[in-house]
Amino acid sequence: MIGAMPQAFDTLSLSPATLDNLRRLGYLEMTAIQAASLPSALLGKDLIAQAKTGSGKTAAFALALLANLNPRRFAVQSLVLCPTRELADQVTTEIRRLARAEENIKVVTLSGGVPLRGQTTSLENGAHVVVGTPGRVMDHLDRGNLQLDALGTLVLDEADRMLDMGFFDDIAKVARLCPAQRQTLLFSATYPEGIAKLAAQFLRDPVTVKVEAQH
Ligand code: ADP
Ligand code: MG
Repeated sequence: MIGAMPQAFDTLSLSPATLDNLRRLGYLEMTAIQAASLPSALLGKDLIAQAKTGSGKTAAFALALLANLNPRRFAVQSLVLCPTRELADQVTTEIRRLARAEENIKVVTLSGGVPLRGQTTSLENGAHVVVGTPGRVMDHLDRGNLQLDALGTLVLDEADRMLDMGFFDDIAKVARLCPAQRQTLLFSATYPEGIAKLAAQFLRDPVTVKVEAQH
C-alpha cells in the first residue's frame, strides 16, 4: 500500500447537503478504507473491503447505500447484516447521523434478543434501510413482515465475525431472497477462508480493497 495521502470527501460524487453534513460531523478527510472503497461503491460495484476495527468502515458503506437510495420510494432499499445487537445499534446510529442531510430516511433495526412486536410495527410504518442480525432478519422474512423486492444494496458488515458466530446459513438464506440485480458490499477486519466462499457465492465480479494496519 502506498503511503496514504489525505483525501477530501468532495473528490467524490456526493450531494452538497451530504458534504455539508460530513463537515458538521467533523469528517474532514476520508479514512484510508473510505478512500479505497467509496469510488467503486458509489459506482454501484460489488466490493470486498478489508481493514482493521476502528478504520471507518461503517461510513464507507453507509455513504454508498445512502447515495443509492430514493427517499420518496417507501420500500426497503438497503439491508445491512451485522453480527450482534450492539453492532447493529452502532451502525444504525451512524447511518442516521450520515443521513441527516437527506429528507426523512427511515432506518429500522432488527436484532435478536429484542421483542418481535415493536420491530414488526416499525416495519409496518415503513423503512428505507434495515440493519439487523441475520437470524432475526430471516425470522421477519419468514413471517412476511419484511419484503426485499426493492432492495438495491446488501451489506455484510463484520463478515468475519458473522461467520465465527455460525451465521453462514442465515446469511445465505437472506441473500437468496434479495433481488439478483443488486449491489453487495462485504466488510471485514480479517479474511479467513469462509469469506472467500461467501464472496464467491453472493458477490458479482467484486472489487477487492485492503488497507494494511498502520504502525
Ligand atoms: P470500523 O467499522 O472500521 O470498526 P467505525 O465505522 O466504527 O470503524 O468508525 C470508527 C470511528 O471513526 C467512529 O467513531 C466514526 O465516527 C469515526 N470516523 C469514521 N470516518 C471518519 C472520518 N472520515 N473522519 C473522522 N472520523 C471518522
Ligand atoms: Mg465496523
